Amino acid sequence: MTSELTVQKFAAWMHAFADDVVANEALLTDLDRQIGDADHGGNMVRGMKAVAELDAADFANARDYAKKAAMTLIGKVGGAAGPLYGTLLLRLAAALPDDGPIDHAGWSAALHAGVDGVRDRGKASAGDKTMLDALLPAVEAFDANPDDAWAAAAAAADAGRAATVPMVAHKGRASYLGERSAGVADPGATSSTLLVQAAARTLA
Ligand code: ADP
Ligand code: MG
Repeated sequence: MTSELTVQKFAAWMHAFADDVVANEALLTDLDRQIGDADHGGNMVRGMKAVAELDAADFANARDYAKKAAMTLIGKVGGAAGPLYGTLLLRLAAALPDDGPIDHAGWSAALHAGVDGVRDRGKASAGDKTMLDALLPAVEAFDANPDDAWAAAAAAADAGRAATVPMVAHKGRASYLGERSAGVADPGATSSTLLVQAAARTLA
């Protein structure tokens, strides 16, 4: 699996994610209404609309574009998700090679760096009912399926998202609810699934 890394391709990923976030704003808000403060849809739409307004032509390479997208999310999203998505993209960007051919190992390294960044920043672990419960299985499936890595990652993210439903939250606002946080999917795991699904449509 080798493809070309270009700023246009990375921007296509971000545009696809922005479209999916807009299409799912009500769902993300409703999930966060049930176990948080009903702002995840609005937070992500605000952030991703600002990212979608970046002009890919202004950036020398995918790394610079991704860094700007990360800083835009940190500046615009607010809430827990802004710094977490910002860190994900910032670390992922720093691990990207120069524009040109990128193979399975190259994407794997970038994805691991990004997800490790979320873990460092949020101090959550698998099973805490956070975005990591979609992202960690996605990266694992990406590594295990070099021939169909993005599709496998998208399917694993969605399975991870579904697995958050019965979980009790141990991090973030939902953890204030204790046992009452069980029974609804984690909003951040749901938006993270959209991110990986958008990657599967644009980067595969
Ligand atoms: P806030 O919780 O500040 O209102 P959002 O509603 O935008 O922010 O985002 C909530 C999502 O952020 C949660 O559903 C969860 O996935 C994610 N999240 C919160 N805290 C953490 C953390 N410590 N580590 C990883 N993800 C987290
Ligand atoms: Mg919230």
